[in-house]
Amino acid sequence: LVMPLGQAISAWTQLQTGLGALARIQEVLVLDPEHDDVAEVGGATTAPRRPAAGVPLLELDDVSFAYPDGTQVLRGVSLSVSAGSRVALVGPSGAGKSTVLALVEGFYPLTGGTIRWAGTDVRELPRAALRAQLGYVEQEAPVLAGTVRENLLLAAPDAGDDELWAVLADVGLTGVVQRSARGLDVPVGDEGVLLSGGERQRLAIARSLLSHPALLLLDEPTASLDACNENLLRETLAAAAADRALLVVAHRLSTVLDSDQIVVLDGGRVVARGTHAELVETSPLYRELAAAQLLV
Ligand code: ATP
Repeated sequence: LVMPLGQAISAWTQLQTGLGALARIQEVLVLDPEHDDVAEVGGATTAPRRPAAGVPLLELDDVSFAYPDGTQVLRGVSLSVSAGSRVALVGPSGAGKSTVLALVEGFYPLTGGTIRWAGTDVRELPRAALRAQLGYVEQEAPVLAGTVRENLLLAAPDAGDDELWAVLADVGLTGVVQRSARGLDVPVGDEGVLLSGGERQRLAIARSLLSHPALLLLDEPTASLDACNENLLRETLAAAAADRALLVVAHRLSTVLDSDQIVVLDGGRVVARGTHAELVETSPLYRELAAAQLLV
């Protein structure tokens, strides 16, 4: 009885995960269908421009937001992510960090302020074209029940084995996959490599990197990562930042200490910004967060 029961629970868990992912995909699809068409100008697809390194790629200008149920979450948030730079959002639970990523992804309309991509108000850009520039890895990144290869090819159906192994190396998953004689065709889940929370997220990052986004939005998992997975996540972020911008919601300051800018949110407002060293000097809240994580 025990084995079939275990299998039934596992199948149920996978089904729930799949349904959750499907619900999110449907949420994206129904948001604003008439705005989802990629604009055609003279027969050519108009993708938003990618500015040169150092030029603002994403700008939030005085953004306010309340969820449809009336919960006011963000108040006058301004921040900028330059091409090639790495920005982290930190702050207490409920400060509004994940909501910032949801707004950049276009999941909800703003209640105030403007979000610009390469200088253009995103409301003037076709949503599909903007999304093609963004990689979004959420906290509970959905991983398919298929093989490692199938998970990766979702993002880049034409990628060859060399490209797949290279991206697995970037996210520190080469060892896990190589341990199986089936290599890239090892199933993910109960029958193959048992991916931990940290590994699942790194597989999702790998999938996202394969579509070469100009900006990777990453919501770090809140669940505790062991020291090994935490180090690997830090190395993954460094590799991911090599040729793109990063906006990372961080629950562990240790994964974002070397960011170009750390933005501290509290109660939906930006209360401080700077590098780690600057914030330790200037922000009591940041110092408190850092002290709680034994970083000062
Ligand atoms: P954490 O570190 O715990 O993940 P966070 O800083 O990412 O928190 P958010 O998830 O952005 O915070 O949530 C900010 C506030 O918005 C919280 O009070 C939360 O309860 C509320 N909130 C989040 N999602 C929704 C929603 N879909 N509808 C209504 N309120 C929401």
